[in-house]
Amino acid sequence: MSKNKNEKSNFKVDKSIAQQRVKAIWPILKKTYPDARTSLDHTNALELLIATIMAAQCTDVRVNIVTKTLFKKYKSAKDWVEAPIEQIEQDIKSTGFYKNKAINIKTACQKIIDNFGGKVPDNMKDLLTLNGVGRKTANVVLGNAYGIPGIVCDTHVIRLSRRLQLSVNSDPVKLEFDLMEIVPQKNWTHFSHLLVFHGRSICQARKPKCEICPIAKHCPAANNPKLW
Ligand code: SF4
Repeated sequence: MSKNKNEKSNFKVDKSIAQQRVKAIWPILKKTYPDARTSLDHTNALELLIATIMAAQCTDVRVNIVTKTLFKKYKSAKDWVEAPIEQIEQDIKSTGFYKNKAINIKTACQKIIDNFGGKVPDNMKDLLTLNGVGRKTANVVLGNAYGIPGIVCDTHVIRLSRRLQLSVNSDPVKLEFDLMEIVPQKNWTHFSHLLVFHGRSICQARKPKCEICPIAKHCPAANNPKLW
């Protein structure tokens, strides 16, 4: 059963137990998903930023199909700014919500040129000034393009954090700050990737495969549908 994003869970979290749980599952998840990384294809920070904006309410697979040709056409922030908005809308239409996304991409690129010398900012404060960029997108860019650790609270991370009772919060920003306290900083980005991979392959939303889950013995929700 899904929860409202601001809803708190009906369990309590002991920070030191949550820390121990993270410590216990970390090596198992790393071994299980040795290739865990962002699924969005990119070769630089601008491509990753734009792919992440496009990925809202869309699958990474679909975004990769679209960006494969698009990133040959738009190579710099200037290319996006100079393109007519109707053209951008057409180019990204299949990712859904294309009108909002097209405006966000174009205005974000304008700000990157006007305020940041054409380079995608490498810090949270400046990234958050860009249109269509919240903490999640900013952390994707910081962690994967600049190697600056950040917890990315996507739908998988939110669901698994609740099942693993790492936080009582389902709100992405509150959860991010909770996880920052129990996951070592250097592991923030990779821990997020591991939860995403585990959420996609085993701990799925509707029917988690607890019977084959390698971290089941550390999971309070194992085989307990009431806690899913
Ligand atoms: S035991 Fe079940 S609920 Fe817990 S992490 Fe594994 S698949 Fe998810």
